Amino acid sequence: MPMPLLGQMMDVPLNVSTLLVHAARYAADTEIVSRRIEGDIHRYTYRDCERRAKQLAQALMRLGVAQGERIGTLAWNGYRHLEAYYGTTGFGAVCHTINPRLFPEQIAYIVNHADDRYILFDTTFAPLVAKLAPSCPNVKAWIALADDAGIPALDAPLLGYEALVGAQDGDYEWPVLDERLASYLCYTSGTTGHPKGALYSHRSVYLHAMGAALPDAMGFSAHDSVLPVVPMFHVNAWGIPHGAPLAGSKLVLPGKDLDGKSLYELMEAERVTFSAGVPTVWMSLLAHVKSIGATFSTLERTVIGGSSCPPSMLETFEDEYGVRVIHAWGMTEMSPLGTLARLNWEQAQRPLEERRRLLRKQGTVICGVDMKIVGQDGRELPRDGVAFGDLHVRGPWVIDRYFSGDESGSDASPLIDGWFPTGDVATIDPDGFLQITDRSKDVIKSGGEWISSSELENIAVAHPDVAEAACIACRHPKWDERPLLVVVRRPGAAVTRETLLAFYEGKVAKWWMPDDVVFVDELPHTATGKLMKLKLRERFRGHVLPTSGDGSESA
Ligand code: AMP
Repeated sequence: MPMPLLGQMMDVPLNVSTLLVHAARYAADTEIVSRRIEGDIHRYTYRDCERRAKQLAQALMRLGVAQGERIGTLAWNGYRHLEAYYGTTGFGAVCHTINPRLFPEQIAYIVNHADDRYILFDTTFAPLVAKLAPSCPNVKAWIALADDAGIPALDAPLLGYEALVGAQDGDYEWPVLDERLASYLCYTSGTTGHPKGALYSHRSVYLHAMGAALPDAMGFSAHDSVLPVVPMFHVNAWGIPHGAPLAGSKLVLPGKDLDGKSLYELMEAERVTFSAGVPTVWMSLLAHVKSIGATFSTLERTVIGGSSCPPSMLETFEDEYGVRVIHAWGMTEMSPLGTLARLNWEQAQRPLEERRRLLRKQGTVICGVDMKIVGQDGRELPRDGVAFGDLHVRGPWVIDRYFSGDESGSDASPLIDGWFPTGDVATIDPDGFLQITDRSKDVIKSGGEWISSSELENIAVAHPDVAEAACIACRHPKWDERPLLVVVRRPGAAVTRETLLAFYEGKVAKWWMPDDVVFVDELPHTATGKLMKLKLRERFRGHVLPTSGDGSESA
């Protein structure tokens, strides 16, 4: 047997720190602009950011933080949070971003499960820290992201960020780390059971950033001004804090004010060309822009994901404002980017309606990620755009297992034959476009057939009188489950059950038509802005459908 012939290239480990080093060298004077929680605008450059990240690393090491230890953050999108990303991972500690919108009991669980040594917090979260501190005894100190004057009075071990950082000289070289070492820890929202930790490596974050930066993914450029609305406490703001420095893009960090007016003003003032966020954020931004009769003067494109982007939103952005929408799908367990809806050259030549049909879907994978749908028997289903199945993925930025809390990794592997089951139900069409039809527990099983709740919701929100809609399974004596539509009307609108049902005529198969519509004042959302269908299903558990009576209903 001949010896295998190995490649003869350098084995340079992929380290998160090198992304910032690159920006600090080649986009040294490019700005990072932050709206601070104090209300003012803070500006500095990548060069400044790297120096302060080094000072933070020095400060943490002086506090005794060792490689592999977790440092939590409870913070909005801002320059100090960005420093925390790099100032922890850069020397081998793990940055654990915590979602402050979770219930305090869930946060305490997460902090203890992660065994966080220190937690950096924006002072808006001081009341939350006061609640958490007694139940998190292993946290050595809570570090207020403020100068000495801004440190809140709390009955907890406290340190001030600026004092810590200011005491260091920044004269430090980032070490070269094994690329398989842990870098970030992000927990899922835990709508069922405890939140689970996804522990990214340096390698996975680096490769994800390269994938995200590709022209047909987020497509960062050194000419871009990038505003992540998606919070840095939610799946690393979809990788933007890594992809932007990789490309040398200007970064605009919006802080805590995520209402339409605040975002619009910042976008215009900072000449933002690219942004990313969940559909609810864009709803309020569009409403604001419409109410003042304005347009976007610099915004070119926006990635919308986290939950399904209603087609009506996509079309409003494109037709009324000339802003390209890129619908994306992903999850915490995937760092998070999986697919994005972009057309290839051939698809771009097709008629408008056909192009739109594709762009409304969640799109195709970034090279490196592989996906398939499987049936109940675990066998792969055809990519015909019709068959629904459980979506499985694999790739270098997909988790292998959940963080077990004690480094043993002893928890049972979630993988099935080497693939991660996402818990989403989807179709894949002959163009390779993924369409998410549901979370597996939300799909409506009517007489053994599946009905997509997300498709029915998209139709409802296309009605001009509907602000928001959720479609849930409701018990039915004959069909097992039938769709019930729960709707929030727009203020002052008078849409009725009958007119809304008539709106579905011709848009879906007859047996997909919702059996009933109820109107509510608001819908429950999770900490990451997703509809809380579990709560809705509980609330409408006893709902009697008008079709339940004689078994001769429309389905
Ligand atoms: P998270 O881990 O909090 O980011 O949530 C991931 C889940 O959000 C996915 O498994 C999907 O159920 C849902 N999701 C994310 N993006 C989309 C999208 N574009 N359309 C529909 N569902 C989405």
